Amino acid sequence: MTTAARTAPAQGTAEREDAGHFDVLIVGAGVSGIGAARHLQDHFPDRTFVILDAQDNRGGTWWTHRYPGVRSDSDLFTYGYRFKPWRGPSIAAGDEILAYLDEVLDEYDLRQHVRYRHRVIAASWSTEDRRWSVDVTRDDTGQQVRFTTGFLWMCQGYFNHAKPYQPRWEGMERFAGLIVHPKRWPEDLDLSGKRIVVIGSGATAATLIPAIAGKAEHVTKLQRSPSYWFAPPTTHELAVTLRSLDIPEEWTYEILRRQYIQLTDWLARTAREAPGDLHTFLIESMRPLLPEGFDIEKHFTPRYRPWQQRIAIVPDGDLFAVLREGKASIVTDTIESFTEHGIKVSSGEEIPADIVVSATGFTMSVLGDVAFTVDGEPVDLAERVTWRGIMISGVPNMAYIFGYFRHSWTLRVDLVSDLVCRLLAHMQDRGATMVVPTLRPRDQDMELRPWCDPENFNPGYVMRSQHILFRQGDREPWTHLLEHEQEREILPKADLEDGTLVYR
Ligand SMILES: Cc1cc2nc3c(=O)[nH]c(=O)nc-3n(C[C@H](O)[C@H](O)[C@H](O)COP(=O)(O)OP(=O)(O)OC[C@H]3O[C@@H](n4cnc5c(N)ncnc54)[C@H](O)[C@@H]3O)c2cc1C
Repeated sequence: MTTAARTAPAQGTAEREDAGHFDVLIVGAGVSGIGAARHLQDHFPDRTFVILDAQDNRGGTWWTHRYPGVRSDSDLFTYGYRFKPWRGPSIAAGDEILAYLDEVLDEYDLRQHVRYRHRVIAASWSTEDRRWSVDVTRDDTGQQVRFTTGFLWMCQGYFNHAKPYQPRWEGMERFAGLIVHPKRWPEDLDLSGKRIVVIGSGATAATLIPAIAGKAEHVTKLQRSPSYWFAPPTTHELAVTLRSLDIPEEWTYEILRRQYIQLTDWLARTAREAPGDLHTFLIESMRPLLPEGFDIEKHFTPRYRPWQQRIAIVPDGDLFAVLREGKASIVTDTIESFTEHGIKVSSGEEIPADIVVSATGFTMSVLGDVAFTVDGEPVDLAERVTWRGIMISGVPNMAYIFGYFRHSWTLRVDLVSDLVCRLLAHMQDRGATMVVPTLRPRDQDMELRPWCDPENFNPGYVMRSQHILFRQGDREPWTHLLEHEQEREILPKADLEDGTLVYR
C-alpha cells in the first residue's frame, strides 16, 4: 500500500465553523479553476459556486513562479481560453499571463467567488446527504472551517507549490556559496560578478539562463542528460499580418489557434510515426544557432524519443545566443559531489560556483493532497481508475482537471469543462443528484495500467509519482488520452449513458 495516496478520514468534525453551502466548489484559482468557473457560470448562471485557493492570490503556477525570465513554453493562442482572445505575443512572460487572468476575473465578475488562503485538507462524501463536506484550514486566520457542496471540481494543478523537488547531493552542506531553487527565488539576489551553475535540463533552466546570463560573470548549465529544443520566433508573422488588416480580434485569435493546433498535432503525430525524422529536424534546426564546432552529440542529443518528455521552447533562440556570446556554457555530466567552491562532476572537473540554482523540477501532488472519504471509507487513489482523465472510479460527484503535456494545458481545460457542464445538465434532466463512475461487470477484470505509460511520456516528476497516482484501464472510458487530436473528437461525443456512470 502506498502511504502518500492513502487518504485519511476527515478530522475535527465538531469544532469546524460552517462556511456555507455551494452547488459547486472549485479547488484552485489557477488557469484551470478560473476557466472552470467561467464555463460553469456560462452554463448555469443560477448555480452558486465558490473557488478556494491556498495561495494569497490568483494564477497558481504563474503566481508562485517568479524567477527571472519566467514565461510560457507553449504558444498563448492555444494557452488562452477558447472564450477570451489572447492579444499579445505567442510566447508570454508570467506577468502577462497573470494580466490576462485578471481580465478574465474582471470581465466575468469572478473575483467575488474566490476565497484565498483557504487550503482544502479533506473532503468527505455522504450518499445519505448527497453532499461533500470540505474541510479547510484558513491560512490567514488559522480557523478550521467546513464548506458543503453538491459537486466538487478539483482544479488543483499537478505539483506541490510549497515543496519543489530538491535532490540531495553529497557535500551540499560544505558548499560556501548559495543554493537557490527557482521556485523560491530571493527577490534581492545580486548576480553581478557571480559564477552561477544552473542544474537542470528542462524548460526552467532554458528560461532562466538567458534572463540572468548578462548579469552574472558566467552561467554554466549543468545537465545530467540533454533535452530537445525548438527555437520559434516570438513574433508570429501571420499574427502581424492579420492584426495589420484590422479584422476582429476574435477572428485573428481563432485563425492562430487553429494554426498552432495543427502544428502541434503534426509534431505529436510525427513523434509517434516518424520519431527519427523529428529527431533529425529538431537537431538540425539547432545546429546553425550554436557556436561553431559545438558538441551537439554530447550536449543536445537526448537519449529518448522526441516528445517522450516535453520539448523545451527557446523563443528566438535566446539560450543559443548566450552560448554563442560566451556568457553561458553547458556541461553534460553527473554530479559527484559539491565542494566548498563549486561542483565536482564524474569526469573529475570541478565547476566553480558562487551560486547554484537547482532547476530540478517539481514534486507532484495528486488532487491537491486532499484526503478523500466516501461514506466513511478512506479513498486510496492508487487503487482507483480514471474515467476519461476527468473523474475517478467510486468517487461520486467529483471531477478534476489535468491539462495536456504536449499541447497547451488550457485546451483541455475548455474540453473538460464542456464535458463536466454537459454532465451536470444531464443529471438535472435525469433528476439525479449523484453520479459515480463505476466499473461495469465486463470491466472488472480489465488490465490496470499506470496512469502514464512511460513508453509514451516519462518526465522525472511523473515517474517519481506513478505509485501514488490513480490508474488507467485497457479500454475507454477508463483511459486518460494525452492527445488533443483524439480528445477533441471523443470528449464532445462521450456517451454519458454507457453504463460506466451510475446515477441516483
Ligand atoms: C514555469 C512554468 C511554465 C509553464 N508553461 C506552460 C506552458 O507554456 N504551457 C502549458 O500548457 N503549460 C505550462 N506549464 C504547466 C502549468 O502548470 C499549467 O499550464 C497550468 O498553469 C496549470 O494550471 P492549474 O490551474 O491546473 O494548476 P496550478 O497553476 O498549479 O494552480 C492550482 C491552484 O490550486 C491551488 N491548490 C492546490 N491544492 C489545493 C488545496 N488542497 N487547497 C486549496 N488550493 C489548492 C494552488 O494553490 C494553486 O493556486 C508551465 C508550468 C511552469 C511551472
